[in-house]
Amino acid sequence: MSATESSAGFGALLGSLGGGSTDLIAQVLAAVKEHVGADMSFLAEFRGDVKIIRRIIATGTPSLVEGICLPLEATYCSRVVCGKLPNLILDARSDPRVRDLPITAELDIGSYLSVAVTLPDGRVFGTLCCIRHEADPSLDQRDVRFMRVLGDLIGTQLGRDEAARSERAIKSERIGQWLDGGPRMVFQPIVSLATGLIVGAEALARFEAEPSRSPDRWFAEAWDVGMGLELEVVALRNAIGALDQLPLGAYLTVNASPATLLSDAFAAAVLGVPRNRLVVEVTEHAMVEAYEPLVNVVKRLGAQGIRVAIDDAGAGYAGLCHIIQVAPKLLKLDLMLSRDVHADLVKQALVSAVVGFGLRAGVDIVAEGVENAEDANTLRRLGVPYGQGFHFARPGAMPAQLELAH
Ligand code: C2E
Ligand code: MN
Ligand code: MN
Repeated sequence: MSATESSAGFGALLGSLGGGSTDLIAQVLAAVKEHVGADMSFLAEFRGDVKIIRRIIATGTPSLVEGICLPLEATYCSRVVCGKLPNLILDARSDPRVRDLPITAELDIGSYLSVAVTLPDGRVFGTLCCIRHEADPSLDQRDVRFMRVLGDLIGTQLGRDEAARSERAIKSERIGQWLDGGPRMVFQPIVSLATGLIVGAEALARFEAEPSRSPDRWFAEAWDVGMGLELEVVALRNAIGALDQLPLGAYLTVNASPATLLSDAFAAAVLGVPRNRLVVEVTEHAMVEAYEPLVNVVKRLGAQGIRVAIDDAGAGYAGLCHIIQVAPKLLKLDLMLSRDVHADLVKQALVSAVVGFGLRAGVDIVAEGVENAEDANTLRRLGVPYGQGFHFARPGAMPAQLELAH
């Protein structure tokens, strides 16, 4: 590949030297400079007809600085990459191949060592170079090999950075498409285990797009690219928008992570929601760092007539300390606890304990993921007041009345 060919399409690499590679490149440049006893070492990027000095480490006042562009054809580097010059020049001032090039005098080049930096897909990024003002007859192929290893290391890192950036761009675009209209919401009834009547419904997001995957994966990706709050809030708005279709006397639950609960966007979205009709299920996917702000929001919402529930209690981070601190009005037992509870004495013991806690602390308990009559009966017998799951209804259209159609 010629230097000119290789330099096409490097736009995306301009930002390559940020983040993780910055330290690595500085370390590599320091290592080669030290090893060769050079006056300067630098990483250059080839872009079109120019070579840009991206990072440089030099002794004294260097004749090159970061960001400077040199015409590619004037440099040694381009000749090295296309094989017109060797990687190593021991005495530039007496070498007929380079002694008359203006750059030899301009940069006061005595000895010179350079290797191509190639990206994992084979494109040439540029070069890793060392310049010493003195001629140095002691440099040899072993030094070239050492530089090659380090040049490869930089190339691999730049490739990784580029891949990470393009993956992030794909994710951002994928999430961005939902930020205007938001996902479609479906609703799953929460029923009284004693009467079978609907007491509430949970709003669940449906992302009908590729890749096909569960909503929590969509939200996780959104958080990954810094759009989690926005996505949660559009879903929340869509859910609240359906509140007036919910039978009177029933409540609607919506999911939100603690960060969303603390945001102004959340406060704005729930402003003016009728009292006692909304429950916010706090879904925990990471450790809460400070409880005080969360506790304050829970109190403020309570004063507004909005209750807070803890989702997936018994799984992951929704542990006992979390429950005590947040002091929710409602606890949703993780579906692991409901599954096959009829055949599992240990699960029954734990559910009983939670029921006792609920009674004494004034916390309503909802068992999630109730899939069959045996589990529903066992949960009712253990005193769990409410259940939700495929046994009663799958998530779907908003239930029109408080009785389930069977
Ligand atoms: P979740 O809040 O714990 O929701 C309950 C999940 O259990 C739902 O999965 C529901 O479809 C599923 N489910 C209901 N009954 C049964 C059952 O009997 N058996 C089994 N195996 N599963 C049952 P879904 O809808 O796939 O949602 C997954 C998670 O995605 C939710 O878990 C929640 O953490 C998150 N999520 C969904 N919608 C939203 C949303 O609008 N906002 C936020 N922040 N998160 C959401
Ligand atoms: Mn939930
Ligand atoms: Mn849950």
